[in-house]
Amino acid sequence: MPCGEFDLIARHFTRPARRALLGVGDDCALLAPTAGMQLAVSSDLLVEGRHFLSTVAPQALGHKALAVNLSDLAACGASPLAFTLMLALPRVDEEFLRGFSAGLFALAQAQDIELIGGDTTAGPLTVGITVLGEVPPGAALRRDGARSGDDLWVSHPPAGGIGDARLALEVFRGQAHLPGEAFTQVRRAMEWPEPRVALGVALRGVAHAAIDLSDGLAGDLGHVLASSRVGALLEWAALPRSRPLSAQPLPLQKLCVLAGGDDYELLFSAPVSARAAVQHAAAQAAVAVSRIGEIQGEAGMRVRWPEGDVSPWTARGFDHFASDAR
Ligand code: ADP
Ligand code: MG
Repeated sequence: MPCGEFDLIARHFTRPARRALLGVGDDCALLAPTAGMQLAVSSDLLVEGRHFLSTVAPQALGHKALAVNLSDLAACGASPLAFTLMLALPRVDEEFLRGFSAGLFALAQAQDIELIGGDTTAGPLTVGITVLGEVPPGAALRRDGARSGDDLWVSHPPAGGIGDARLALEVFRGQAHLPGEAFTQVRRAMEWPEPRVALGVALRGVAHAAIDLSDGLAGDLGHVLASSRVGALLEWAALPRSRPLSAQPLPLQKLCVLAGGDDYELLFSAPVSARAAVQHAAAQAAVAVSRIGEIQGEAGMRVRWPEGDVSPWTARGFDHFASDAR
């Protein structure tokens, strides 16, 4: 971006470096990794109209852009260290930048992570973040560790469930209707997801496999099953649903919970012998967890419905390049 670029960076994206030896302003940032730790690295790109609506508050966008990246670190059990920010902006909009950076830095501060660099250019509104974290050697949670007989767990807000973000999207699309208070609750789930970083760290050495829910339970569980070469049985009755969602017609509930997307909760497997340890990890992280099914040797995903019948579930999660994706 020609004029104003450095001004903009200095005004909105420069804070004193604490952990970094060199932060924003030079050609590279310098970080001193903790001796003996492995680096965990993840990137996510958010494009207006595809990953967020143009009506979203700038502050919520700043929060969510960092939250979805921290969620990936959480899924690996990594502790966050620092992040970089790639911004394409249609124009220099001070009010947008003030709100965006406020949301971004509030979460950064809460998670004790600092912005160490990035790039800024003119273009359609796009936000890319790369997060760096660290994890002891061999302790990272991965998608390929699930074993037949493991319990399947999902995290969720204490009074909530999964699928709320998708329900909010359906309301925005005019496909569902909610009373004001319920809409506020599910809209919050969509716009202000809380990355489960503390839970990920607490699950080191406890969970066999983990993934964060970004593209919907069925799709993301599918990744774990494929990587681990196993199958799973989900108990519909055990899948945590918020009050607003459980008041919806069953087909909409199924869509939101199984194919929803944007949950940013952790889905993980752990041996039956670790049930107390899982509950302890959840309590430490002040988040709720529900046991939603089990890993089985037989490939594929099955759902047991409340009447006891079991049916295969083949619906995919959200795939940005699938023909019906939009
Ligand atoms: P270079 O041309 O050497 O790549 P830039 O001119 O792109 O550097 O950026 C100048 C400095 O500002 C660099 O330290 C870069 O990391 C930082 N920076 C650029 N954009 C951002 C941003 N959106 N957030 C944080 N730091 C940024
Ligand atoms: Mg540059």
